[in-house]
Amino acid sequence: MNVFLEQAIFNGLVTEDFPVAIIEKMLQNPDSFFVPKCRICTNVQLGMEKYVAHQKQKKAIITDQHKQKTQTWKNSNGAEKCYNLQTLVHRYVDEERYRQKLSEEEYTQLQSDFAIAKKQGMTNKHLSNIPARTCPSCEGANR
Ligand SMILES: [Zn+2]
Repeated sequence: MNVFLEQAIFNGLVTEDFPVAIIEKMLQNPDSFFVPKCRICTNVQLGMEKYVAHQKQKKAIITDQHKQKTQTWKNSNGAEKCYNLQTLVHRYVDEERYRQKLSEEEYTQLQSDFAIAKKQGMTNKHLSNIPARTCPSCEGANR
């Protein structure tokens, strides 16, 4: 589950050419987006860190579209940002499942791993300042 999730996030961000500035902002404010010691959150963060390093290394060009998306994101409130993160994680997990051609059995196993990790992760939710009822990454992976 851990490696799968990190890859899902990294591959999803690369494929979508996601604005790196948004990812950097989330990583700089982990309290608002991630639950400490949550396995799902941790691996989402690892995938994001890998993406930022990857974009820097290849000196990726920041387009006007990136700037626009980043501005829209900055103008949204905390709960909206969390919802965006949740949607992103959900979409990327789904895409990675097909990218890796998981069998039904493997996918069922993955889902049960996600469910357990969410349950464990949510016990630390109170340690974060996430402005939502649930953890965005855990919710996205389990949607
Ligand atoms: Zn989490």
